[in-house]
Amino acid sequence: MPTRKKARRTKFVFVVGGVMSGVGKGVATSSIGTILKARGFSVTALKIDPYINVDAGTMNPTEHGEVYVTEDGDETDQDMGNYERFLDTTLTSTNYMTTGRVYRAVIEKERNLGYKGKCVQVVPHIPHEVIRRLQKAGKGHDVAVVEVGGTVGEYENILFIEAIRMLKLQFPDDVTTVMVSYLPVPSKVGEMKTKPTQHAVRTLNTTGVHPDFIIGRSDRPLDKKRKEKIALFCNVEEDRVISAPDVESIYQVPINFEKDNMSGLLLKTLGLRPRTSSKLGPWKSFARKVQRVEDEVQIAVVGKYFDTGDFVLSDAYISVLEAIKFSAYGLGVRPKIHWLNSKEFEKGVPRGALSKYDGILVPGGFGETGIEGKIHVIEFARKHRIPYFGLCYGMQLMVLEYARHVLKLKEAHTVEIDPDTKHPIVDIMPEQKELMAVANYGGTMRLGAYPAVLEKGTIAGRLYGTDHIEERHRHRYEINPEYIPQLIEAGLVFSGRSPDGVLMEIAELPRARHPFFLGTQFHPEFTARPLSPHPLFTGFVRAAKVHRRT
Ligand code: GLN
Repeated sequence: MPTRKKARRTKFVFVVGGVMSGVGKGVATSSIGTILKARGFSVTALKIDPYINVDAGTMNPTEHGEVYVTEDGDETDQDMGNYERFLDTTLTSTNYMTTGRVYRAVIEKERNLGYKGKCVQVVPHIPHEVIRRLQKAGKGHDVAVVEVGGTVGEYENILFIEAIRMLKLQFPDDVTTVMVSYLPVPSKVGEMKTKPTQHAVRTLNTTGVHPDFIIGRSDRPLDKKRKEKIALFCNVEEDRVISAPDVESIYQVPINFEKDNMSGLLLKTLGLRPRTSSKLGPWKSFARKVQRVEDEVQIAVVGKYFDTGDFVLSDAYISVLEAIKFSAYGLGVRPKIHWLNSKEFEKGVPRGALSKYDGILVPGGFGETGIEGKIHVIEFARKHRIPYFGLCYGMQLMVLEYARHVLKLKEAHTVEIDPDTKHPIVDIMPEQKELMAVANYGGTMRLGAYPAVLEKGTIAGRLYGTDHIEERHRHRYEINPEYIPQLIEAGLVFSGRSPDGVLMEIAELPRARHPFFLGTQFHPEFTARPLSPHPLFTGFVRAAKVHRRT
């Protein structure tokens, strides 16, 4: 009689940050997942965001970075994108939690008498809810890698760290904690300093949690002396102090971790026997390719979420950036990305301002700022046959530009900006209007994966090589179906539509008229992967490469 194997409990690797934020905790989490997956384990990844916001949809991208949309329509943190790209997997809303989400669930349960008259307390009920969510997301996987947002010592993430402590108490063999810490090398001192890391470990210790591993982030590798010092003062075995120097490409990080045998040590700590030797072959060849490519293509990304004070932050478009890279490396070219602020094109395109670019991309966006600038840029790209790729807002504005300048509907607009426009080329659908009227904005967005049918023989049809696709959306407005006959008459092709034919998903100009002038109502950047670039990005970069030569 076949014996039923008992499902194995999920093992948890928690990743916490020490010293300061922004040193690559998300990449470390993704890389830990990658090296464990390469040892034959099924791995999932979770992000804990300590914000009160229930989702990332309401956060300003200049402050918080990109809003990453999952297939099931959750608006999450950009780190989720890293996990999906590194692990080549599809995550859902169960893989993302915020403080707001956890509290809301506890309060709802309390209102529904779910605690049966007990006093509901921050501890233990909040950490219990966190653990419930962790276990739910981990179910069916050998390992769940969990990134705790923020840095140890902050009030904000304390209850999540309390959850680590409780889970470890219950399942001591199933939980391991990794601290990603920063080791500065002050220029006047000229030596790598370990003291901030020592303090961070002590702070973590006050919560009853001790790191089993320390990943030492710095601008250079950790030497033997630094490893010894961290081991001794932080109470971590020396071989578990992992060196994580700055690298040219984040996709080198898993390879670097393995130089310190991190997967072997993690498996040992979690009591898992390796199922195979580390299979990082495809990663290694990808990383080699990244180092080797020499030819460049110049890509301009025209957006508005760049500046925080004196700094330019490209994080708001991280998935777009990565998607361009994957396609470019696949085609053997290095993409040079130029961030152009659309506000600078408000009055038109100054002479020569765009001539050095081989491709122009307008990514997603909301609101009025800089949109006339974007429309000028799109018109320029169309007239001068510069490859153009429009994502979401970039597609809506592309169609708007066409309506204004080719159909000569000068007042054409999107109702997002001008609700009373004479020609609402980009409009809100009737069902959404009702929700907007009662300020139910969340309900008015088309979020997550939707199917589309492609027209054979079009650029999109040929690039995808199939006539049915599914892509992720995040927008409120649509191309107005009433204007479609006129736009088609004027030469625009709608090569992708919703299965009922009502919603326009892809617009393009035929190849005879333009080498690449294409826009998507969805966000293809969310499904591009390092080892399987997105076909539309590849089409765009290929056109840019050809443009370079001409
Ligand atoms: N603002 C536009 C809309 O809501 C486009 C959104 C986007 O680019 N993600 O439809």
